[in-house]
Amino acid sequence: MLTDTHAHLDFPKIQTDLAGVLQRAEAAGVTRIITIGTTAEGSRRSLALATQYPQVFCAVGLHPNNVAEEPPGWLEVVRELAASPRVVAIGETGLDYHYLPSTRGGTAQDDAAEKVAQAAAFRAQLELAAELGMPVVVHERDAWDDTLAILGEYTGRVRALFHCFGKSPAHAQQLLALGHTASFTGIVTFKNGTEAQASAREMPADALFVETDSPYLAPVPHRGKPCEPAFVRHTAEFIAALRGISLEQFARESEDAANRFFRFPK
Ligand SMILES: [Zn+2]
Repeated sequence: MLTDTHAHLDFPKIQTDLAGVLQRAEAAGVTRIITIGTTAEGSRRSLALATQYPQVFCAVGLHPNNVAEEPPGWLEVVRELAASPRVVAIGETGLDYHYLPSTRGGTAQDDAAEKVAQAAAFRAQLELAAELGMPVVVHERDAWDDTLAILGEYTGRVRALFHCFGKSPAHAQQLLALGHTASFTGIVTFKNGTEAQASAREMPADALFVETDSPYLAPVPHRGKPCEPAFVRHTAEFIAALRGISLEQFARESEDAANRFFRFPK
């Protein structure tokens, strides 16, 4: 009845207790989990999980923070994996200017080179998504204008879901105007998550998703603990209450939205 639209089931923190994680998700009514690739190898692992477990689907792609270290050939791997019917989106891709080389002792030139490399990887994945008619899961951090500018080159050809959305309703409006969507993590349940809350209250039902970003960002009442897909129910309950609707109505609407947005097998 709920879909966790963004989890990293292949990460070690979850792998140590995958059976328990999947069992608790089912008990919480989380009937679908989309596990998200962040490298070519991680995308391969994600597809293996999505092939093994009927409730697991995956996205395949290269995360902006992994662009610099990724060996060449990743795009061909992503393209090959994307042919599987268990793959429902391309990603996560996008731009992240929060962890540039200068935060680890690099120079301004290193930062500039990294930005160029991230943009190239983002465009390559958008191009692939457009070609395959698939949606894209976007990671954006401290790079709003550049992300929208690159995405703008694909308006009408690619629909994007901005994952872990925490910005204001005005930012959400910018996305909606271009046909894009957003999903909300446990951040929306935090006391200081006021912008995310305002956006989650106002998003149209057909462009609103929930996710855990497991193993990160556990919602209240599990804040600070390792996150797992079962917890998406807390985020859904919180947003349903914000919108003044029942959890059942929220679940119906967001399942409809997920069925329309992602390339789930028919
Ligand atoms: Zn992620």
